[in-house]
Amino acid sequence: MTSSVKPYPDTQIYVDGAWRGGDRTIAVIDPATEAQIGRLSLASEQDLSDAAEAAARAFRDWRKVSPLERSKLMRRAAQLLRERADDVAAVMTREQGKPLAEAKAETLAGADVIDWFAEEGRRAYGRVIPSRADAVRQIVTREPVGPVAAFTPWNFPLNQAVRKVSAALASGCTVVLKGPEETPASCAALVQVFIDAGLPAGALNLVYGVPAEVSSYLIAHPAIRKISFTGSTPVGKLLAAKAGEHMKRVTMELGGHAPAIVFADADVPRAAKLLALAKIRNAGQVCISPTRFMVQDAAYDEFVEHFVATLRSVKVGNGLEEGVQMGPLANDRRLAAMERFVADALDHGAKVLTGGERIGREGYFFAPTVLTDVPLSASIMNEEPFGPLAPVSRFSRYEDALTEANRLPWGLASYAYTRSSATSAALSEDIEAGMLSINHHGLAVPETPFGGVKDSGYGSEGGTEAMDAYLVTKFVTEHR
Ligand code: NAD
Repeated sequence: MTSSVKPYPDTQIYVDGAWRGGDRTIAVIDPATEAQIGRLSLASEQDLSDAAEAAARAFRDWRKVSPLERSKLMRRAAQLLRERADDVAAVMTREQGKPLAEAKAETLAGADVIDWFAEEGRRAYGRVIPSRADAVRQIVTREPVGPVAAFTPWNFPLNQAVRKVSAALASGCTVVLKGPEETPASCAALVQVFIDAGLPAGALNLVYGVPAEVSSYLIAHPAIRKISFTGSTPVGKLLAAKAGEHMKRVTMELGGHAPAIVFADADVPRAAKLLALAKIRNAGQVCISPTRFMVQDAAYDEFVEHFVATLRSVKVGNGLEEGVQMGPLANDRRLAAMERFVADALDHGAKVLTGGERIGREGYFFAPTVLTDVPLSASIMNEEPFGPLAPVSRFSRYEDALTEANRLPWGLASYAYTRSSATSAALSEDIEAGMLSINHHGLAVPETPFGGVKDSGYGSEGGTEAMDAYLVTKFVTEHR
C-alpha cells in the first residue's frame, strides 16, 4: 500500500460560500476493508432552504458575468483539479474502491470536462430570423434556465458531478448539488477547486442528506428551475414525476443493460480482450458497461476462450495497491446483488465459466464472472447487473441479435464488433440506444453526446447538446 496516502477527510456541506458541519453525521466506509474512514455531515431542511436561496441570489449576478469571464474562472478550476489529481484520486479510491489509476483518470477527465464546457459556454449562440416585414427584426437568444438541483451517484463520484456542474455554470446557471453520501469527499474536492478558482458565494452549493428528503425538498422549491439526475431508472421516474408536478425541466441519465454484439467477421481476440477490460472497469458499476454479450455461432468458442482467459488474469484487490486492475464493489448492496444474480442464473440452468463468488471475507470483492447458457427468464438478463458479471450467449442471424439487443426497456450504450461496413451501417440505424460504439470503446468524452433513450432517460450530458439542458430560448421581435 502507498505510504504517502493522506488521511481521509471528514466531509461537510457547502452553502452560500461557507463549509458547514451539522448535528447529523453518518459514517463513510472503505469498501476494501469495511472500516469506517470518515464522517459526513448531512443537511437539515434549513440548510437546504439556505442553499436554494443562496443559489437564487447568486444567479442574479452569475448570469450577468460574461461567458469569457466564466470561462477563465472555470479553466482555473480545471487546472487546480489537475494539480490535485493525485490527492483527489487517493481519496476517491478509499471511499469508492476503484483502482488508483482509474480514480486518477476520472479526476483528469473531470478537468477536461470543465475545460470543454468553459469554452462551449462562449458559444451559446442565438440567431436572427429573417422577417416577413421590412422594419421587423426577429432575434432568438439563449438564456440560463436558472438555479439547478443536481443529484449524482457514487459510481463516478467526481465525473457524474462535474458534467452537470460545468454545463450549468458555463451556461450561467447556479447549482445546488446533492452529492453521493457513500463517496462524498472526492465530490467535495471538486467543489473546492471551483471555490479556490474564485467562484462567487452561492453559485455552487454542495449538500448531502437522506436522498428522498433532499430531492422532495429541492424539486418543490420555487427557486429551483431545473433538475438533473443520474442514477437508477426507478428513482429517475420518481424524480421526473415530481419535477412534472412543478413544471420543472429535467435531464435524466439513468441505467442501461448494454448489448455487446460480436459478429463472426470481427477481430475476435481483440473484441474479447477489449470487452473484458471494459467489463471490469469500475468493477462493472458503470451505466454504459457492456452487460449482455452476444456472439455469432462461428466465433463463439474463440471469443469465450479469450474472454475467460482475460477475466481470469485480472488482478482484484485494494485499489491503492500497485497493479490492481479491479477493486471491490462500492457497497454491500452490490455484493448482495451479485450473489443474488449468480444464484438465480444457476437456478435457471446457467453455467459459471469463471468467478461466480465473493473473494475473501473482508471487503466487498467479487470475482469477474462469466456465465453461459443463461435463459432470458433469469434476472440478470432483465435487470441491470451493475457489477462484474458477463452473461454470454450465441446467435446465428443479424435479426436475432438485434431483437435481443432491443428487447429490454433501456437504451443507453451499445457495442458491436464487425469488419463489415454493411453490418455497421445497419446497426447504426436499427439499434435502440443513445450511443453505439463499434470496434472500440469510445464513449463519454466531453465533446460527444452522452445519454439514452427509452427507460435510460432523456437529455445529454456531453457535447453541445448538454448545454441545451441549461439554456432556455427567448424570442424577441422588434419593429423599428
Ligand atoms: P438506488 O436506486 O437507491 O440509488 C441510485 C442513486 O439514486 C443513488 O445515488 C442514490 O443516492 C440516489 N437516490 C435514491 N433515491 C433517491 C431519491 N428519492 N432522491 C434523490 N436521489 C435518490 O440504488 P443504489 O443501490 O445506490 O444503486 C443501485 C442501482 O442504481 C444500480 O443497480 C444502478 O442500476 C443504478 N445506478 C446507476 C448509476 C448511473 O450511472 N446511471 C449510478 C449509480 C447507480
